[in-house]
Amino acid sequence: METEIQSWANLATEVGSCRRCTLCDTPGKRVFGEIKLGCKVVFIGEGPGSEESAKGMPFIGASGKLLRNWAVACGLKEEEYSIFNVINCPLPGNRKPMKVEMTTCGVWLQKQLQLLGCKKIVLLGAVAAEHMLEPSGYYLGGVMKYVGSRFTVGETEFLVMPHPSYVLRAMGSYDPPIDKMKQFVEDD
Ligand code: SF4
Repeated sequence: METEIQSWANLATEVGSCRRCTLCDTPGKRVFGEIKLGCKVVFIGEGPGSEESAKGMPFIGASGKLLRNWAVACGLKEEEYSIFNVINCPLPGNRKPMKVEMTTCGVWLQKQLQLLGCKKIVLLGAVAAEHMLEPSGYYLGGVMKYVGSRFTVGETEFLVMPHPSYVLRAMGSYDPPIDKMKQFVEDD
Protein backbone atom coordinates (compact mmCIF):
# COMPACT_ATOMS: atom_id res chain seq x y z
CA MET A 1 0.00 0.00 0.00
CA GLU A 2 1.21 3.47 -0.86
CA THR A 3 2.53 5.35 2.20
CA GLU A 4 1.30 8.86 2.97
CA ILE A 5 4.73 10.32 2.13
CA GLN A 6 4.74 8.45 -1.20
CA SER A 7 1.22 9.71 -1.96
CA TRP A 8 2.38 13.30 -1.44
CA ALA A 9 5.43 12.73 -3.62
CA ASN A 10 3.27 11.25 -6.38
CA LEU A 11 0.81 14.15 -6.19
CA ALA A 12 3.66 16.70 -6.32
CA THR A 13 5.03 14.96 -9.41
CA GLU A 14 1.61 15.06 -11.10
CA VAL A 15 1.16 18.76 -10.33
CA GLY A 16 4.73 19.46 -11.45
CA SER A 17 4.02 18.09 -14.92
CA CYS A 18 0.41 19.30 -15.22
CA ARG A 19 -0.54 21.05 -18.47
CA ARG A 20 -4.28 21.26 -17.89
CA CYS A 21 -4.51 25.02 -18.37
CA THR A 22 -2.59 27.75 -20.19
CA LEU A 23 -0.83 28.83 -17.00
CA CYS A 24 1.47 25.83 -17.45
CA ASP A 25 3.80 27.94 -19.63
CA THR A 26 4.07 30.94 -17.29
CA PRO A 27 7.73 31.49 -16.38
CA GLY A 28 8.64 30.75 -12.76
CA LYS A 29 8.37 27.84 -10.37
CA ARG A 30 5.13 26.14 -9.49
CA VAL A 31 4.19 26.30 -5.84
CA PHE A 32 2.76 23.03 -4.59
CA GLY A 33 2.21 24.13 -1.00
CA GLU A 34 3.63 23.86 2.47
CA ILE A 35 2.48 20.60 3.99
CA LYS A 36 2.52 19.74 7.68
CA LEU A 37 1.09 16.28 8.24
CA GLY A 38 -1.43 16.19 11.08
CA CYS A 39 -1.79 19.99 11.07
CA LYS A 40 -4.57 21.79 12.98
CA VAL A 41 -5.35 24.36 10.30
CA VAL A 42 -4.94 24.90 6.56
CA PHE A 43 -4.56 28.36 5.03
CA ILE A 44 -5.61 28.73 1.40
CA GLY A 45 -4.51 31.70 -0.68
CA GLU A 46 -4.79 32.65 -4.32
CA GLY A 47 -1.63 31.80 -6.27
CA PRO A 48 2.12 32.32 -6.21
CA GLY A 49 3.37 35.92 -6.22
CA SER A 50 6.75 36.88 -7.66
CA GLU A 51 8.80 35.89 -4.61
CA GLU A 52 6.88 32.63 -4.21
CA SER A 53 7.32 31.63 -7.86
CA ALA A 54 11.03 32.53 -7.69
CA LYS A 55 11.57 30.11 -4.80
CA GLY A 56 8.73 27.63 -5.32
CA MET A 57 7.36 28.17 -1.82
CA PRO A 58 4.03 29.67 -0.69
CA PHE A 59 3.66 32.89 1.29
CA ILE A 60 7.29 33.86 1.72
CA GLY A 61 7.11 37.54 0.71
CA ALA A 62 5.74 40.42 2.78
CA SER A 63 2.21 38.99 2.82
CA GLY A 64 3.64 35.63 3.89
CA LYS A 65 5.40 37.27 6.81
CA LEU A 66 2.13 38.89 7.83
CA LEU A 67 0.25 35.58 7.55
CA ARG A 68 2.86 33.83 9.69
CA ASN A 69 2.56 36.64 12.27
CA TRP A 70 -1.21 36.04 12.36
CA ALA A 71 -0.56 32.33 12.93
CA VAL A 72 1.74 33.14 15.87
CA ALA A 73 -0.92 35.50 17.28
CA CYS A 74 -3.36 32.58 17.15
CA GLY A 75 -0.96 30.38 19.11
CA LEU A 76 -0.05 28.22 16.11
CA LYS A 77 3.41 26.72 15.82
CA GLU A 78 4.87 26.35 12.33
CA GLU A 79 4.29 22.60 12.32
CA GLU A 80 0.59 23.15 13.12
CA TYR A 81 -0.46 24.75 9.85
CA SER A 82 -0.28 23.95 6.15
CA ILE A 83 -0.52 26.44 3.31
CA PHE A 84 -1.92 25.95 -0.18
CA ASN A 85 -3.09 28.14 -3.03
CA VAL A 86 -6.02 27.65 -5.40
CA ILE A 87 -3.57 28.06 -8.30
CA ASN A 88 -0.21 26.26 -8.45
CA CYS A 89 1.44 27.96 -11.44
CA PRO A 90 2.58 31.61 -11.45
CA LEU A 91 0.01 34.07 -12.79
CA PRO A 92 1.27 36.41 -15.54
CA GLY A 93 1.78 39.89 -14.11
CA ASN A 94 0.37 38.62 -10.80
CA ARG A 95 -3.14 38.95 -12.24
CA LYS A 96 -6.22 37.38 -10.68
CA PRO A 97 -6.93 33.85 -11.87
CA MET A 98 -9.81 33.29 -14.24
CA LYS A 99 -12.71 31.10 -13.20
CA VAL A 100 -11.72 28.33 -15.60
CA GLU A 101 -8.19 28.32 -14.15
CA MET A 102 -9.57 28.11 -10.60
CA THR A 103 -11.83 25.21 -11.54
CA THR A 104 -9.07 23.38 -13.39
CA CYS A 105 -6.34 23.80 -10.80
CA GLY A 106 -8.80 23.41 -7.95
CA VAL A 107 -8.90 19.70 -8.69
CA TRP A 108 -5.33 19.50 -7.35
CA LEU A 109 -6.30 21.47 -4.27
CA GLN A 110 -9.12 19.03 -3.54
CA LYS A 111 -6.66 16.13 -3.79
CA GLN A 112 -4.26 17.92 -1.44
CA LEU A 113 -7.02 18.56 1.10
CA GLN A 114 -8.29 14.98 0.89
CA LEU A 115 -4.81 13.62 1.47
CA LEU A 116 -4.15 15.98 4.38
CA GLY A 117 -7.52 15.34 6.03
CA CYS A 118 -7.54 18.61 8.00
CA LYS A 119 -11.10 19.85 8.62
CA LYS A 120 -10.34 23.44 9.62
CA ILE A 121 -9.59 25.82 6.77
CA VAL A 122 -8.94 29.56 6.70
CA LEU A 123 -9.76 31.14 3.33
CA LEU A 124 -7.53 34.12 2.53
CA GLY A 125 -9.25 36.56 0.20
CA ALA A 126 -11.82 36.47 -2.56
CA VAL A 127 -10.32 33.80 -4.82
CA ALA A 128 -10.08 31.19 -2.04
CA ALA A 129 -13.51 32.10 -0.61
CA GLU A 130 -15.19 32.00 -3.99
CA HIS A 131 -13.55 28.75 -5.00
CA MET A 132 -14.27 26.88 -1.78
CA LEU A 133 -17.69 28.31 -0.79
CA GLU A 134 -19.51 29.18 -4.02
CA PRO A 135 -20.22 25.54 -5.01
CA SER A 136 -22.11 25.17 -1.71
CA GLY A 137 -24.13 28.32 -2.40
CA TYR A 138 -22.50 30.37 0.39
CA TYR A 139 -20.49 32.91 -1.56
CA LEU A 140 -22.15 35.63 -3.63
CA GLY A 141 -19.19 37.93 -4.18
CA GLY A 142 -17.72 40.83 -2.20
CA VAL A 143 -15.34 39.03 0.14
CA MET A 144 -15.15 41.80 2.73
CA LYS A 145 -18.73 41.25 3.83
CA TYR A 146 -17.81 37.64 4.71
CA VAL A 147 -14.58 38.37 6.61
CA GLY A 148 -14.72 36.82 10.08
CA SER A 149 -17.65 34.57 9.10
CA ARG A 150 -17.61 30.80 9.51
CA PHE A 151 -19.15 28.23 7.17
CA THR A 152 -19.57 24.48 7.40
CA VAL A 153 -19.45 22.28 4.31
CA GLY A 154 -19.78 18.60 5.13
CA GLU A 155 -17.35 17.93 7.97
CA THR A 156 -15.14 20.91 7.16
CA GLU A 157 -15.23 24.28 8.93
CA PHE A 158 -14.20 27.39 7.04
CA LEU A 159 -13.32 30.90 8.20
CA VAL A 160 -13.03 33.78 5.75
CA MET A 161 -10.19 36.24 6.27
CA PRO A 162 -8.84 39.00 4.03
CA HIS A 163 -5.80 38.17 1.95
CA PRO A 164 -2.71 39.48 3.79
CA SER A 165 -1.71 41.47 0.69
CA TYR A 166 -5.00 43.41 0.99
CA VAL A 167 -4.17 44.26 4.60
CA LEU A 168 -0.68 45.39 3.58
CA ARG A 169 -2.11 47.60 0.84
CA ALA A 170 -4.46 49.20 3.40
CA MET A 171 -1.33 50.45 5.22
CA GLY A 172 -2.75 50.35 8.73
CA SER A 173 -6.25 51.58 7.88
CA TYR A 174 -7.79 48.09 8.16
CA ASP A 175 -7.57 45.75 11.16
CA PRO A 176 -8.17 42.09 10.27
CA PRO A 177 -10.22 40.15 12.86
CA ILE A 178 -7.36 38.13 14.32
CA ASP A 179 -9.44 37.48 17.46
CA LYS A 180 -11.97 35.58 15.32
CA MET A 181 -9.22 33.56 13.71
CA LYS A 182 -7.78 32.72 17.14
CA GLN A 183 -11.20 31.57 18.33
CA PHE A 184 -11.64 29.51 15.15
CA VAL A 185 -8.27 27.83 15.72
CA GLU A 186 -8.99 27.13 19.40
CA ASP A 187 -12.54 25.79 19.02
CA ASP A 188 -13.01 22.01 18.92
S1 SF4 B 1 -2.27 26.25 -12.93
FE1 SF4 B 1 -2.80 24.24 -12.12
S2 SF4 B 1 -4.14 23.29 -13.69
FE2 SF4 B 1 -3.02 24.98 -14.66
S3 SF4 B 1 -1.22 24.01 -15.52
FE3 SF4 B 1 -0.64 24.80 -13.49
S4 SF4 B 1 -0.91 23.04 -12.12
FE4 SF4 B 1 -2.02 22.59 -14.02
